[in-house]
Amino acid sequence: MRALGVAVLGPRLGRGPRTETALETDPKIVSELARMAPGQVLVAEPMARHTSFGLGGPADLFVEPTDPSTFRECADYLAEAGVPVTLMGRGTNVLVRSGGIEGAVMTGMKAFTTLTPTDSGARAGGGVGLPRLLSFCAEHGLSGLEGLSGIPGSVGGAVATNAGSFGVSVGDRLTGITVSKPGGSSSFVPRDELQIAYRTAGLSPETLIEEIELALDPGEPADIRAAQQETLERKWKSQPSGMRCAGCVFRNPEGAAAGKLIDEAGLKGLRVGGAVVSDLHANFILNDRGATSEDVEELVEIVRERVAASAGVTLELEIEVVGRR
Ligand SMILES: Cc1cc2nc3c(=O)[nH]c(=O)nc-3n(C[C@H](O)[C@H](O)[C@H](O)COP(=O)(O)OP(=O)(O)OC[C@H]3O[C@@H](n4cnc5c(N)ncnc54)[C@H](O)[C@@H]3O)c2cc1C
Repeated sequence: MRALGVAVLGPRLGRGPRTETALETDPKIVSELARMAPGQVLVAEPMARHTSFGLGGPADLFVEPTDPSTFRECADYLAEAGVPVTLMGRGTNVLVRSGGIEGAVMTGMKAFTTLTPTDSGARAGGGVGLPRLLSFCAEHGLSGLEGLSGIPGSVGGAVATNAGSFGVSVGDRLTGITVSKPGGSSSFVPRDELQIAYRTAGLSPETLIEEIELALDPGEPADIRAAQQETLERKWKSQPSGMRCAGCVFRNPEGAAAGKLIDEAGLKGLRVGGAVVSDLHANFILNDRGATSEDVEELVEIVRERVAASAGVTLELEIEVVGRR
């Protein structure tokens, strides 16, 4: 990994099989990006450093602009240059394969960080951490998101995946989002124009969530803190904590809980290499004892096959699996 000042890409960065990209054939792209966002562009950056699984090979480029206009300038430039871009928040819902990610990973974690109370709730930048938003809500007496305590992602990632737990989803409290796409300007999309559903906001992969607006109820800070704490304690009892993972691996099928189906199939503790199905919550796969991304993927397939055989249900992934094999 190198912080870019003047560096250019070498002929081959990834460890896995590569396809030719504009980036490899035109090092000018890299130096131009470094000029736009000095010190904010890394080459061959291991994604294991940016994912809660702690897994994943290098992104050809990792771009983390520190302000919105630099973010937009870099995104526009990469699109014009034909470099594929993968948006990422805190990497808590993704499994990156060992071959890494072709093109650029862009994150708005340092660029979109506003957090302000409004007359009816709050406005938060896409790069704000969800735990920080929840502390802010408690501090300002804003109630409604307490059930999201313990979800470690960013605001942008939470909205893109319509994250939720204990019957509350971030989409329930959304009034709208400010988004942008490469080559376009920022625009506000009201909630009723979004396709919000279970674990999705229906956005295209290139749509960046710059900011969100929430409608929240007034509440006593002490009560809000107590409700958040109660949620955390429920989670500590029922989910593994302090382990490398990406939360629930599979979506809950209609009318059932994926974790229960996996448990009933007798798969708790099932292991492939360093990847293991949690003993505490069967829908969590943990990176235990130095797993590889391939261990996790293989275990996912085995769990899927065994649950299909025992319950007749084909589980679908909740986490996103990205990157080169
Ligand atoms: C211990 C643990 C517990 C968890 N518990 C829960 C839970 O209870 N409920 C739940 O729903 N999830 C849970 N998760 C999963 C995860 O935290 C959430 O899905 C989270 O909201 C993802 O946010 P992120 O910033 O990490 O997104 P990432 O994993 O970085 O990205 C996820 C998706 O969002 C997109 N994205 C990220 N930022 C933006 C942006 N600014 N604009 C547009 N798209 C963006 C990415 O392109 C990607 O498609 C858990 C994860 C862990 C590790």
